[in-house]
Amino acid sequence: MKSLLVRFFLFSLVIAACSIAVTAWLASQATTGAIRQEQGEALETDAAIVDELVGYAATHRDWSGAKGTADEIARKYDRRIALADRTGRKLVDTGNENSPQLPITPRAVVDPLNVNGEIDRRAVGPFKLTDEEHRLLHAYSAQLSECNRYITIVDAPNGRPRLSNDQPGNLSKWEDCTVGDRLYTLTATETAAYEELQALFTKCLAAQEGEPSIVDKPPSRVMLDWDVLMVRDSPPDVVSCMDTARREQLEPYVAEPVQLFLTQVTGDEPRPIDLSTTGATRITLVALGILAIAGFASWVTATQLVRPIRALTAATKRTAEGDRTARVDGGAGEIGELAKSFNAMSEKLAETERQRQAMVSDVAHELRTPLGNITGWLEATQDGLAEPDPHLIGILLEESLLLQRLVDDLHDLAQADAGTLRLHPEPIALDDVVEQVVTAQQNREVLLRAETTPVHITADPVRLRQALGNLVANAVRYTAPGGEVVVKLFREQDNAVLEVTDTGTGIAPEDVPHVFDRFWRADKSRSRRTGGSGLGLAITRHLVEAHGGTVSVTSALGEGSTFRISLPA
Ligand code: ADP
Repeated sequence: MKSLLVRFFLFSLVIAACSIAVTAWLASQATTGAIRQEQGEALETDAAIVDELVGYAATHRDWSGAKGTADEIARKYDRRIALADRTGRKLVDTGNENSPQLPITPRAVVDPLNVNGEIDRRAVGPFKLTDEEHRLLHAYSAQLSECNRYITIVDAPNGRPRLSNDQPGNLSKWEDCTVGDRLYTLTATETAAYEELQALFTKCLAAQEGEPSIVDKPPSRVMLDWDVLMVRDSPPDVVSCMDTARREQLEPYVAEPVQLFLTQVTGDEPRPIDLSTTGATRITLVALGILAIAGFASWVTATQLVRPIRALTAATKRTAEGDRTARVDGGAGEIGELAKSFNAMSEKLAETERQRQAMVSDVAHELRTPLGNITGWLEATQDGLAEPDPHLIGILLEESLLLQRLVDDLHDLAQADAGTLRLHPEPIALDDVVEQVVTAQQNREVLLRAETTPVHITADPVRLRQALGNLVANAVRYTAPGGEVVVKLFREQDNAVLEVTDTGTGIAPEDVPHVFDRFWRADKSRSRRTGGSGLGLAITRHLVEAHGGTVSVTSALGEGSTFRISLPA
């Protein structure tokens, strides 16, 4: 989880998943909504067209004059309307040559005597009042309204005025009015129609098996509800007989049932569903919400990611300005690794800095004494206090040789540091090298001897002599007169080993790790003359390592030391 890569990956994954989910959800919502709305509109329009056509059929005996009405309806609803009779003959078509083909199945059947099983209210047939009756009844209803101004009079489909259905409590009030009775007495037209209906009804009942139900004579007063003609709570056969009778009676007065076909006005593609505006506000809000959440999450994640990078940048700046103590805690993961590397680099830089400062001060210190001596003797000579005799010249030469050696050593080290220390390897006999060094270092105070076996390797003989010479010189230097120094050469597995063992002062255990450091001396007060510059072992180590070998030391204080060079043979 700490890995930058994993965090980036997971974060992108989550954002992408959220976006896809929300987009899909919005799209489905918008589409469903738009389709539902579109379908709803279409259904509503169709239902309205059917209703208007049923109204026409209920009040007309046939469709011959229906073209005008159909055109009007078609214009109103922006549809093309076609009507065909049972045989498929086209009776009315509001379309033109641009209109598309009619569908195979009709949209609906327009039948005023069967609208979802019911008879349309507007089909009144013989119950329709004559103009005279209509006028008379309206005169009564006007009087009734005057008598009781709280009542509302509405026209029934056959033209008869009657009390509005939603005023049942007003019954007693209009009964007080004398016109009430007259208004609600059947007209001649209605009586005739009722009688005709009664006859058809009775005939139907008689045709049925069993005891015909007892049915009232036609009412002397009009039923309050035009739809419910007498038989609402009667047995089913009675109800169906009343329906049959009504249909039979009305049939001649209404237009025949026809099939209704509806299409677009022109043959163009159907109007595409428009999603652009559907829930535009909601989509905008949700999109903004997602944007806000994603933005917030990004901000939080980015801040977390950037924090260690900022710390690193600040630390780098401090380091660049010379502060070697700058360290970063980068946590785990890639940035953590970077921080660790940076800390290691800072550490190394500080260490190098320390070494450089120590080196400069050591060099200055080492140069000061011989230079001081030389200057002192020369000044004394100038002042006439000392004679420039061979003795003085010998002293001055010794001091300048010391300086020369120091500068040579420094040069070697500088080359080793810069990686420009050049080796000239060639096949050599190591026992010859040992022989040369031992011969060169012989003196009368210490017994120096070699124990060699013939070993041949490829190496730079000059540099190897220098390295071994340093060890032997040290051994002789730190061994009291009468002591012994042995240089051994032998093979050990794939290595050639050179061991310099002395019976000298030895090195304290706490000093052992430092003997190969530059300018390090066990005895700080020992003069250069006896103790050397403190660079010898450092140079030896560099030379041996340049040959791919190692140098090590084991020592016991007061008993002697053994320096050991191991070279790949
Ligand atoms: P120096 O020129 O002072 O000898 P080196 O680098 O050769 O410088 O040695 C560093 C220090 O290690 C010496 O000053 C001495 O204290 C210690 N040392 C080196 N070789 C021996 C040895 N054979 N016996 C005891 N001490 C030694």
